[in-house]
Amino acid sequence: MEKKEKVIGIMGGTFDPIHNGHLLTAECAAYQYDLDEVIFVPSANPPHKVEKNITDAEDRYTMALLATMSNPKFRVSRMEMERKGLSYTIDTVREFKKLYPTAKIYFITGSDAILEIFTWKEPEELLKQAEFIAATRPGYCLSQLGQKLYDDYRDAIHPLEIPGLAISSTDIRQRIIEGRPIKYQLPETVEMYIKKHNLYR
Ligand code: ATP
Ligand code: MG
Repeated sequence: MEKKEKVIGIMGGTFDPIHNGHLLTAECAAYQYDLDEVIFVPSANPPHKVEKNITDAEDRYTMALLATMSNPKFRVSRMEMERKGLSYTIDTVREFKKLYPTAKIYFITGSDAILEIFTWKEPEELLKQAEFIAATRPGYCLSQLGQKLYDDYRDAIHPLEIPGLAISSTDIRQRIIEGRPIKYQLPETVEMYIKKHNLYR
């Protein structure tokens, strides 16, 4: 019997830190699109965050490992950490296509990220190379993409309705600075790692 081709979801992000919004998005995408696995790819040097003081990639990678440990479909890749220079999604998609030449590849984002896709490197090529799953995120609406763009890329962008979680890494970092609770916004293992390593203080 012929083996079914693998279907892979790539979940890119800074994950500073990873939280339940990321995990819920990946889980809903995996169910809806029958993904065999979701590979979380922490961005080593995100081009749109160069002026920001982001946490060491090793810490972000470890937190992603802790957060995804219990899900058999979730994996974490060091691909962008091992590549020199800025971390561009087009390079990551190309590298995954080389690694899995027969697989169908989806790139999973929240709707805020997809709305910015035309500021990314080689956006048109990117939309040809991978199909995008754009999950709803409170505060961002895919209709802002504009009807013409949406019509042009209708086959490459798949909206995905998920239960909205108004959680963001920025808000979690701010809460830690101000001593407000972060419990239930991210896995307990990640919360413990943040405490142990005194991150975001
Ligand atoms: P920051 O506030 O530092 O930008 P973030 O919470 O937006 O952090 P990122 O690492 O920037 O997290 O996001 C990685 C991916 O996850 C992006 O595609 C983003 O749209 C998506 N995402 C993040 N949080 C949510 C959420 N609460 N719901 C849906 N998608 C999300
Ligand atoms: Mg973000």
